[in-house]
Amino acid sequence: MKKIYTAILVFAVLATSLPSIAQTTIIKRDPEIAKMVNEISAENLEKYVTDMVSYGTRNTLSTQKDKDKGVGAAMQYVLRHFQEVAKTSNGRMTAEIDEFVIKADGRRIREDLPIGNVMATLKGTDPNDDRVFIISGHLDSRASNVMNGEIAAPGANDDGSGVAAVMELARIMATREFPATILFVAVTGEEQGLKGARYLAEKAKTENWNITAMLNNDMIGNSSSSETNINDNTRLRVFSEGVPMAETDQEALVRGYTNGENDSKSRQLARYVKEIGERYVDQLEVKLIYRNDRFLRGGDHTAFAERGFTAVRLCEMNENYNQQHQDVRVENGIQYGDLVEFVDFEYVRKASGVNLATLASLAMAPEQPQNVGIDVRVLGNATTLRWEAPKTGTAKGYYVLMRETDQSVWEKKFFTTDTMIELPYSKDNYFFAVQAVGANGHESLAVFPRPITR
Ligand SMILES: [Zn+2]
Repeated sequence: MKKIYTAILVFAVLATSLPSIAQTTIIKRDPEIAKMVNEISAENLEKYVTDMVSYGTRNTLSTQKDKDKGVGAAMQYVLRHFQEVAKTSNGRMTAEIDEFVIKADGRRIREDLPIGNVMATLKGTDPNDDRVFIISGHLDSRASNVMNGEIAAPGANDDGSGVAAVMELARIMATREFPATILFVAVTGEEQGLKGARYLAEKAKTENWNITAMLNNDMIGNSSSSETNINDNTRLRVFSEGVPMAETDQEALVRGYTNGENDSKSRQLARYVKEIGERYVDQLEVKLIYRNDRFLRGGDHTAFAERGFTAVRLCEMNENYNQQHQDVRVENGIQYGDLVEFVDFEYVRKASGVNLATLASLAMAPEQPQNVGIDVRVLGNATTLRWEAPKTGTAKGYYVLMRETDQSVWEKKFFTTDTMIELPYSKDNYFFAVQAVGANGHESLAVFPRPITR
């Protein structure tokens, strides 16, 4: 029996490999998400960053006893903000400092250090929906010497910009209802070795949280590049692992013979961030970077990816090393240091919009389809995919996604209400995936199929 399906051609720019077909980009925005994105205020973002910078330093080793200076005072500041916005949530948002102890490691932690992550939890409205979404930035900052908890370390961009995005999204989303739970987190200990993120990721793993997506925002406000002098606030990087750090031997085997090295769960999230971010935020291109993080470097999402969670990093397109990890000083006429005056708050606003659109769209979508498989029991030039309905949420149908093997993003979407599809395209020449679509039109993350061999 042949099912009728509709092909929706999206984003003409993404489909350059099919030059013979004239295509128009269809931008369908959910007015409620568009409204939330519009509520993001560059002025608010600037105020949060300026306030955080006013504590002098937020180095993890700085004082937690002074109410006007150091990481402790900054933690209380973010906590007060979360408590304030929680009042608008009808009791669904709670705020806390999730305390933990960073163990002395002989490297960046001299002695055991009690500290905490500042966290707001917006509880989902559907008791059967156990999905958790996380947006994070790191509250701690550093100057040239990461062990110096005394010297000024304004950390306006690294990572005041990321924490400001978290604070602004908490403010806007607290007033709305989502079936799934969203965590807004300002972690500490990032510069000492991802300590706060590792604590949270380990806790999530131990308690078996169903984390659908983790968005780490680390430096999203610099639009002026050192050395190359490029000025660009129209592109944002999203980093994602290709080969999963946490895969089992069996998963590695399947990846090998399905050539899934560009289709990890985190890479699907990165593609989703691109598609949804560009759908809702004007004048911003989301650039997929095919690596977990910058060359030889890491970030808080790494702590989650290491434990098998779906996690990406959002980051400005170009960095400025005169501002990053530098003591505040003037040398040869150059101002060094991570100061507020170098943050482009219009850029932070757009990056925050990408986060908001992604989180809202995912949280309002059904969970991804289960047991997605590609039928390989008979050889042929057509491709048959099968799957099962999502565990939570209701799918009105599914998009079957397709792209050529040398393309970075999905090029075609076929809509079906069935839980199988037969497409006249060879699985040898294309990659496929399936996402669930809710009655409201929101799409789940895409699932790369496993082979069905029996
Ligand atoms: Zn950072």
